[in-house]
Amino acid sequence: MKVGVLALQGDVREHSEALTACGVEVVNVRRPSELAQVDALVMPGGESTTIAQLAQIFGLFLPIRERIAHGMPAYGSCAGMILLADEILDAKIGQETFGGLDITVRRNAFGRQVDSFESDIAFNDGSDALIRAVFIRAPWVEKVGTGVQVLAEVDSHPVAVRSKSILATSFHPELTGDNRIHRYFIEEVARAALQQVQ
Ligand code: GLN
Repeated sequence: MKVGVLALQGDVREHSEALTACGVEVVNVRRPSELAQVDALVMPGGESTTIAQLAQIFGLFLPIRERIAHGMPAYGSCAGMILLADEILDAKIGQETFGGLDITVRRNAFGRQVDSFESDIAFNDGSDALIRAVFIRAPWVEKVGTGVQVLAEVDSHPVAVRSKSILATSFHPELTGDNRIHRYFIEEVARAALQQVQ
């Protein structure tokens, strides 16, 4: 499986390292020809408005939106979660997303940069072990649509969700050196979705 990392802004290298450690081939995606090569796409943490603007400038915005709409597996952390959400609260005026995931997210829901925090939380992938979650000006999920499963919560707010082919987390597993969530994306979300398409 070839997995792309959207490499316009944000913590691209950390996602690439986590995915490489999971044994997949990783491609940095900055142009449509690179997007065309990948089976799945990861959207890093960073700044969702900047990433969306750069995607427009690089001619990637519509191609990504279309690939996701046609079932390309995708995973987004933090800003990446916002980019995958169908609806944003506290968005910048005119802020657009790739969409595909039937959730409403609230940007910067946990507060400002100084309110960033780390916490050990349960992640519902069948393991009882807690996972270290790093929240940096993180969104939370306010509403999930039908077919969207909540995998983790903080203070009753969903912070990890999945649909058939899309996974999103408010937090940054790419920053902890624990590849459990990337592995979950590859094995349980992407591989399963790609097998159904074939
Ligand atoms: N608050 C940022 C945004 O709206 C996300 C922060 C992050 O990815 N760490 O895009």
